[in-house]
Amino acid sequence: MPESSDPHILLEWAGDVGETFPFLDFHVHPFDVLTGDTGYRLDDQVQGLYYKGSSVYHPPRVQASVERPKTSPASSITLRSLLLASRLAYTHTGPKVLTDQLDVAGLAGALLLPVARTPGAAENLSQVSAHMFPDDGRLLPGCAFPIGIPPDKLGSFFRTARETRGIRAIKLHPNLTGVDPLTEFGRDLIEAMLAAAGSLNLPVVMHGGRTPGLEPVACREYGTLAHLANVDWSVSSAPVIIAHGGLYHVTEEEAIAALDVLERLFERYPNLMADTSNLEPPILRLVLEKVDRNRLIFGSDALYIPIWKSWVRFLQTLRLVSQHPEDDLIRIASLNPIGCLIDNLLDIG
Ligand SMILES: [Zn+2]
Repeated sequence: MPESSDPHILLEWAGDVGETFPFLDFHVHPFDVLTGDTGYRLDDQVQGLYYKGSSVYHPPRVQASVERPKTSPASSITLRSLLLASRLAYTHTGPKVLTDQLDVAGLAGALLLPVARTPGAAENLSQVSAHMFPDDGRLLPGCAFPIGIPPDKLGSFFRTARETRGIRAIKLHPNLTGVDPLTEFGRDLIEAMLAAAGSLNLPVVMHGGRTPGLEPVACREYGTLAHLANVDWSVSSAPVIIAHGGLYHVTEEEAIAALDVLERLFERYPNLMADTSNLEPPILRLVLEKVDRNRLIFGSDALYIPIWKSWVRFLQTLRLVSQHPEDDLIRIASLNPIGCLIDNLLDIG
């Protein structure tokens, strides 16, 4: 299929399908996940555009190719380089930035996943997001897991967030919040969150995989499948989505072994799913070859990667490996994500 590497042709193909089946991006960060910095100013010329510093906003444009230099080896990533890259990705944010990204890719909506790393940060993100990203049925508010709140208070925290802000999902990043599923404390906290999520019918998105460069060093591995396998995911009856298929920044060799762990978890927990976000093409290919389509959801991980680029990479890989690319596209990017939100005030269409 020689034409399948041309981003414009791939977007046109998906665009036709998307007219009947609206596509969702289930993994977008409204703010820098490392700092949770919300110190933006509103642009007085462009509606919904927020900025830091003095750089000029350029709307995204589809380029002729999605190739990019190979990701730096994990050993060369430092905390400093991580923070810098994250800050650069978030010089602008706001509804204008995210809807421009969705429009260029031809997607209907996105689930917003803030990450909070310190006590009080989730509450701050929640307040600022309500103001900056009013729920318009297109940018769906997620809620950061509130670090520092004891397990028995999580239920009332999420209930209030649901009632006051209409949150559609909960995001937990074990590496960035220092929650280790292999410890009793970490597992109890995660399972308390799952109980709350189940009772409110809220999906949970868990970061899955490694975060190179993070300090303290031990935190880098908390989201790997070996750690996540210690949790009883059946505590929630609502969907739990393991982001990046649990394979963020793992090697191909590690991915092959980790996909066996994922398969066993899927057999054991029918509510578990995985998203396809921000994986290098060979790893994404493994995921699309090996994982049941009914358990996969498209996500980009924007703004760490432009939505269109993540989407084109997904379309390209799907057309390479799938026997029924159109059916799989509809399932992974429309029916599955909408299914996760269906009982949850979904009004996208
Ligand atoms: Zn992410």
